[in-house]
Amino acid sequence: MTTTTPMTMPEIERRIRKSIAPEQLRQWLTLKPMRAYRDISLDWLAIGLGFAIAAQFQTLWSYAIALLIIGNRQYALFILAHDAIHGALHPHRRLNDTLARWFVYGPMFMALEDARRNHLQHHRHMGTPDDPDRYLHTFEGKNSPLAFLLYCSGLATFGKTVLKVTPFGRLLTPTPKTGATPPQTLLKDYLKQRLPVLIWQPLLIWLFWLSPLPIWAYLLLWVFPIYALVFVPDEIRAFCDHGVLRHPASVGDSLRLVSFTPPRWEAVLIAPHHMHYHAEHHLWPAIPHYNLHLAHRGVRDRPEITVRPSYLGFLGRVVRSLPLTAKTAVVSAK
Ligand SMILES: [Zn+2]
Ligand SMILES: [Zn+2]
Repeated sequence: MTTTTPMTMPEIERRIRKSIAPEQLRQWLTLKPMRAYRDISLDWLAIGLGFAIAAQFQTLWSYAIALLIIGNRQYALFILAHDAIHGALHPHRRLNDTLARWFVYGPMFMALEDARRNHLQHHRHMGTPDDPDRYLHTFEGKNSPLAFLLYCSGLATFGKTVLKVTPFGRLLTPTPKTGATPPQTLLKDYLKQRLPVLIWQPLLIWLFWLSPLPIWAYLLLWVFPIYALVFVPDEIRAFCDHGVLRHPASVGDSLRLVSFTPPRWEAVLIAPHHMHYHAEHHLWPAIPHYNLHLAHRGVRDRPEITVRPSYLGFLGRVVRSLPLTAKTAVVSAK
């Protein structure tokens, strides 16, 4: 009897990439510089509209609507910055980075360098124990309905995820030593990378102070949505986009190329700016979000890729299947 070892994720990705004609790929990879400005401006305009609604009416319902609009568009901006991590926001690399630093990460307490360091490691090692995001994808620590719901609240992973994208993350995934760096240089780099945060946050507080809104609205309408409508949906999306109903986790590692074709409202809330075409994104991270649907058409029928129709449907199926054991593991990856 012969047994075949399943292909590793890098081998699977290589095989799919090879099946695409260079001419077609070139078309998918074409960036539209104006699209970056349009996307960023529209998301910020919606955020402005949210603030205007809250300031105009100053009632419970207007605060609730404002919170939803602002948080959801913060998330949309966060996804645009994800394109920037891969150089897919704007063809001019410096401008690409500047847009992400000053119009996304700074206002949201983050730094491009931290996000990029972690995320590129995720791309490199996805489907292996070396993936720094693996704790999001497997059922370790969430293999019961209650533990899974706690995960979906964001509370179980907040500390670890935040730590990962701060300078302390370097302690978790040490980079090879390239000679001693003087402490002054480290401090200078640290401050330079966080300059957008250091400028944006006092500026935002000042704008709230000038506005008709109470000053605590900065916490309610700006800081809290970053947790509730950026961090939480992104943790849920990351699980859905790589989670597989197999136990133990290693059995599912060749099945972690997943895309969703969700209803529009799910896409807006959980995966704005086409983030639900995640398998295509892993295959060619430099494809801008607005071309991912073309790549999807090119690879959606491949057996190595799982296409799921709904985030909510998948989450429901996960809750009903828990706890997973080697015996009860669901065979279908969809
Ligand atoms: Zn991923
Ligand atoms: Zn990516």
